[in-house]
Amino acid sequence: MSFKNRFNCFANQKMVKGKNMNNEFNLIIIGAGPGGYVAAIRAAQLGAKVLLIEKEAAGGTCLNRGCIPTKALVASAGVYKTVKNADSYGVKAENVDYSFPQMQDRKNKIVLHLRAGVEQLLKSNAVTLIKGSASLLSKNEVEVSTQTGTETYKSEKIIIATGSVPAEIPSIPADGKKILTSDHILDVTNGLAEAPKTLMIIGAGVIGIEFACIFNALGTKVTVFEMLPKILPYEDEEVADKLKMFLVKDGIEIKTGTAVEPAMTENYELVLVAVGRKPNTSNLALEKAGVIAEKAFIKVNDKMETNISGIYAIGDAAGGVLLAHKASAEGIAAAENACGQDSKIDYSVIPSCVYAMPEVASTGLTQKKASALGLEVNIGRFPFSANGRAMTLGKTTGFIKVLADKKTDEVLGVHILGAEASEMIGEAVTAVKMKLKVNDFTRIMHAHPTMAEAILEAVHDTHKEAIDLPKKK
Ligand code: NAD
Repeated sequence: MSFKNRFNCFANQKMVKGKNMNNEFNLIIIGAGPGGYVAAIRAAQLGAKVLLIEKEAAGGTCLNRGCIPTKALVASAGVYKTVKNADSYGVKAENVDYSFPQMQDRKNKIVLHLRAGVEQLLKSNAVTLIKGSASLLSKNEVEVSTQTGTETYKSEKIIIATGSVPAEIPSIPADGKKILTSDHILDVTNGLAEAPKTLMIIGAGVIGIEFACIFNALGTKVTVFEMLPKILPYEDEEVADKLKMFLVKDGIEIKTGTAVEPAMTENYELVLVAVGRKPNTSNLALEKAGVIAEKAFIKVNDKMETNISGIYAIGDAAGGVLLAHKASAEGIAAAENACGQDSKIDYSVIPSCVYAMPEVASTGLTQKKASALGLEVNIGRFPFSANGRAMTLGKTTGFIKVLADKKTDEVLGVHILGAEASEMIGEAVTAVKMKLKVNDFTRIMHAHPTMAEAILEAVHDTHKEAIDLPKKK
């Protein structure tokens, strides 16, 4: 079935058969991160002729200098930590050591393998991928600068998926030598060579906390500075406070409510600036197409469309929470909308995962948000110390907290602090999204012995009916 027949959405579908065929597309996407490349494949599935433009490497920040490389280092540091503790499992391991360059090599191999995979996926979907820096010329034209010159491409629809870059502190500018961003540490060709003896981390958000755990596990003396009174300010306060307690116990120094001065950096071998990210939209010449941005985030409606019909923006460039999975979901929605469908996102149930040691994962409302919305909640908690599987794994640190609406009994939020939290949050996302009530959830059989049984028990506990906790009054 032809693209036009299926969706009849590109009025001048004929243009791709015209004389400038190679420069004319149904859809141009700028940026091949987890927003852009996913959008490209979705649009191709729907029959569109797609051009994807990327100035660096396919996979964007997530794959090349974000989610994936960090998690590779978290895994390496985690193995080192576990092996050092082998005796507690009855395993004898002596003279345990690590090689940071080897950890970086492993991480790089994973990145390059996945990058090649993304390129292959694009190819198999007949998406044209070109390397170059794109900017808008008009509502239908994109100019691309490559190593060999500039070229203009035309399309009826455009999706902007240019992501974000690390925010900086003007008085402590990153130099890639002593003052680093996550980009410097993770770079595939020129990443950090050795773990430092001392590390100052500015910002106790997701990046700051994940790197604090990696380097602390590797023996670096880590000090985290956060200007707000709490770490992970977007997470449930009880969970963030408990995590802070575990991290401090593990040897990380955390100074909350502390303003950072440039002179403070002198006490450390390296400094990581992790104070958020800013949209990467300044070189797009948005004004030439009339696209409106606010504080550099492109403004979109609930269909991901900008103020200019036919131009969409997704992911970090469009603001909201800056997460890869949110970008991918928006990429799918924008691609479908560009192809004439009507797709929207439910932002109330975005999962959040922090790959700390132990992990944090959450979805739905925090206790603070529920109370700000005037909702009365029943709270259930269950500690991993009472979970059989956690005990066999030697991972009993942490707990699960569930919020259920007192009136409707719907599960409103789930917050997990503990090993494998990121793997367990999926079922919570389904429960919150499907507005499951406590009595529906508790009828869902959970495999035994698994850590996920702790979710079931925490949900039971909202009615004070957990089986594996002492009776509550
Ligand atoms: P963030 O917004 O999560 O946290 C930045 C922290 O820095 C905040 O707590 C803020 O109060 C603090 N801060 C800002 N200026 C400061 C200053 N001058 N001194 C001390 N503290 C200061 O940002 P991030 O940790 O840099 O991460 C960037 C984005 O990347 C986030 O949106 C995050 O969601 C995303 N990310 C996600 C994951 C994941 O999903 N696992 C991992 C890494 C990054």
